[in-house]
Amino acid sequence: MKTSIATVSISGELPEKLAAISAAGFDGIEIFEQDFVAHDGSPRDVAERVRDHGLEIMLFQPFRDFEGLPEPDRSRAFDRAKRKFDIMQELGTDLMLICSSVHPNALGGIDRAADDLHELGDIAASRGLRIGYEALAWGKHINDHRDAWEIVRRADHSNVGLIVDSFHTLGRRLSPESIRAIPGDKIFFVQLADAPQIDMDLLYWSRHFRNMPGEGDLDITAFMRAVAATGYHGPISLEIFNDQFRSGRPASIALDGHRSLLALMDDVNRSEGAPSMNLPRMPARPDISGFEFLEFSTDEDDAERLGQVLGSMGFRRSGQHINKAVSLWQQGDIRIIINTEPDGFAHASYLAHGTSVCDIGLHVDSAHATVERAKQLRLPSFDQPVSDGELDLPAIRSVGHSVLHFVDRQSGLDRVWDVEFEPVDITPETDCGLVSVDHVAQSMDYDEMLTWALFYTSLFNLKKQPIVDVVDPGGLIRSMAIESPDQKVRMTLNGVEAERTLAGHFVAQRSGSAVQHLALATDDIFETASRLLASGFIALPLPDNYYSDVQARFGLDDDFVDRLKRFSILYDEEGTGQFFQIYSKPIGDGFFFEIVQRVNGYGGYGAANAPYRTAALKRLLRQMQIGEVQKAEVNVA
Ligand code: MG
Ligand code: MG
Repeated sequence: MKTSIATVSISGELPEKLAAISAAGFDGIEIFEQDFVAHDGSPRDVAERVRDHGLEIMLFQPFRDFEGLPEPDRSRAFDRAKRKFDIMQELGTDLMLICSSVHPNALGGIDRAADDLHELGDIAASRGLRIGYEALAWGKHINDHRDAWEIVRRADHSNVGLIVDSFHTLGRRLSPESIRAIPGDKIFFVQLADAPQIDMDLLYWSRHFRNMPGEGDLDITAFMRAVAATGYHGPISLEIFNDQFRSGRPASIALDGHRSLLALMDDVNRSEGAPSMNLPRMPARPDISGFEFLEFSTDEDDAERLGQVLGSMGFRRSGQHINKAVSLWQQGDIRIIINTEPDGFAHASYLAHGTSVCDIGLHVDSAHATVERAKQLRLPSFDQPVSDGELDLPAIRSVGHSVLHFVDRQSGLDRVWDVEFEPVDITPETDCGLVSVDHVAQSMDYDEMLTWALFYTSLFNLKKQPIVDVVDPGGLIRSMAIESPDQKVRMTLNGVEAERTLAGHFVAQRSGSAVQHLALATDDIFETASRLLASGFIALPLPDNYYSDVQARFGLDDDFVDRLKRFSILYDEEGTGQFFQIYSKPIGDGFFFEIVQRVNGYGGYGAANAPYRTAALKRLLRQMQIGEVQKAEVNVA
């Protein structure tokens, strides 16, 4: 199965695009006329450049407004086509895409269109070329792949075939199942694009919002299963029009595209009755059963402050690493590591990003299979020297140059806590009832959000939720939750554009994406809140207005609201579900902890509370800047 991508999908000048496409591992390209016209150099030069990158030109596109025209438009369209055929021959490509007409004079009529295609098929054949006909979702008379196929069938010409495009079929909510009835050898080319489900004008949606398979909401796997059932074995090609991609980095967009195709074809390959597609087998998406650990990189001073905050939340320092300046803090099933090593990865991360989560451990069924799947998806692995007595936990690179380590039971990697840590002998203090990690929130530039969503969903058995707009006083933050099917593992990706938003400020300060908060779960928020208060934890204070609003919004009684207010607890409802949140004050330059309780299957993240929370944080940071609040007080909070 060969992979291809339309040059229009990627930003930059043609040479830059070709380098990125080739480096990402594609076999070929669809060349877009505009690209080609803008490039100074003859078609032969372009062809040579493409070949120099080890790529093949698989399709010349698009040729518009061809079929169903009256004279003299019809003759002109044929002349235009012949000129394009000249260019194709110079380029050394044999397939042209003809998309269904939107010409105001196009007359319609299946047989008229079939006759036009047959006649052009003869001209193409005389030059050893082929033409593929595609139904545009907004075509004047033809806007459905079933009608396009009927035209191709009636054209009855070996040099005339069908081109199917997932966007044009799924974007109009047409079922892809009818594709199964088309002979595979009459499908000349397959174009793929996903898109977020937004109700808007089809043409505008298509030109600006398409994205890579798996990044949007269309069922590209069902589409591709139907295509595979026909016996089609030609190239699969990405044709993505997306404003963000057009201003993004060519190399990473191309890598995302190639990765999305690898994951898609693996999904198709796994489906029942899938025809053999000669694909390398990769391990299935692993289930993540939980967060094994969260590791902070920091220096001695910050480590002390962080330890104080953890202590005030009921964490106990329970272990010390046998070889390294690494301590283990525990409560319930939560393990937090503080790493103050003066060299190695954690230290490099500290120098680049300040005190932050540099490493996350995930518990999976098989750590080795997980890393093998990552390798097949061409995700960068991570290695660092292992000293005597240490286990070699498999790892890969993750968001913002951080690392993901994998721990499992089957290869005994979950013994790491006994093997690498010595128990610390301190008197146990009462904990605060925190039992597990509820979610890990990562902030990033909005431009990187789809990349990281694809990273998580192509590698793991995790599902993304629709993007939610979170209002911050400085602008909009787009938040996407990524969850395991049983919702035991949850992450949120927060995409920021404005530096004036709190998350945007955080991303700018950290020079890149990072974990901005850790949310820890309790089974009894009021009990936890009172223990937190007793152990010196200071929650982020909220204005009285917030509580009047919440009371009115949900019709809560006075006693209940008083208790919320007393402990600075935020509250939300969703159906019969209830959600309670307590925030810590920011630690360092914007990281914070959140403590939550979910009741009756509340599934969200308290987005309705976000404006109040960020406003409160901002107020606090401002007070810090003008010295109203001692920095130490905030840090220890
Ligand atoms: Mg197309
Ligand atoms: Mg949260």
